[in-house]
Amino acid sequence: MARTVVVTGSTSGIGLAIATAFAAKGDNVVINGFGKPEEIDAIKTKLEASGGGKVIYHPADMTKPAEIADMIATANSTFGSVDVLVNNAGIQHVEKIEDFPIEKWDQIIAINLSSSFHTIRAAIPLMKAKKYGRIINIASAHGLVASPFKSAYVAAKHGILGLTKTAALELAEFGVTVNAICPGYVLTPLVEKQIPDTAKARGMTEEQVKNEVILKAQPTHEFVKAEEIGALSLYLASDEARQVTGTHVSIDGGWTAE
Ligand code: NAD
Repeated sequence: MARTVVVTGSTSGIGLAIATAFAAKGDNVVINGFGKPEEIDAIKTKLEASGGGKVIYHPADMTKPAEIADMIATANSTFGSVDVLVNNAGIQHVEKIEDFPIEKWDQIIAINLSSSFHTIRAAIPLMKAKKYGRIINIASAHGLVASPFKSAYVAAKHGILGLTKTAALELAEFGVTVNAICPGYVLTPLVEKQIPDTAKARGMTEEQVKNEVILKAQPTHEFVKAEEIGALSLYLASDEARQVTGTHVSIDGGWTAE
């Protein structure tokens, strides 16, 4: 039976790949994130054609708790449940702590950490009532280890792993699992945008940043593919993964093994 899947930040990159993976299975999907109306329409049409489920778009800004609550309520009123919640929306800012703009810190904590509290808070009563749910938080290798100049991002991603464990414990007896995925580098707009800033912060060329900073972190020396994170999300949402909860799965080319 088609499930209802909500994926935050799914107009681009990893979130789009995750939404695509669920839509291809015939699930109904709520997509979210910024983008031009015509691009969002094109995504909806493509996803609906792939698996036959229905796709709706909700424009909730992940810095706004009331809009987030409305997104979860809309998913439920449209499809009758929220079965899978993927907290994926995220942004990055690369700068030394002493120069890090205060409003950037607040924005990153709001989008990369607090928004997941708000979605989970709104989805829990629906999942508990159904005695079924799958919550997947897209953390990062930066939820486990740090890099310089990414203070807000690293703090938020470490925080999301704490929220994952706490929610898993609170929901363990209700058929709801809560897990995090910790990807290494995926070549999405989020990473492409930080290459010039990292080059500036480290005094390197952009090519040096790609090879000597980004791919150096991953022993495979290859980027993770967004589709591979989609496939891992399908597994965490499967029946076979019902005893996998309160943990994270790394998909980082060996980065955090070092
Ligand atoms: P991306 O920039 O390609 O996509 C980010 C998505 O979030 C977009 O759809 C954007 O519109 C949306 N978004 C941004 N701010 C929002 C807001 N205020 N409200 C609603 N939506 C908002 O980035 P990505 O690389 O696909 O990143 C997705 C997630 O994966 C993030 O949480 C990121 O931290 C994480 N991640 C990325 C990498 C990587 O290398 N790309 C590695 C590890 C973890």
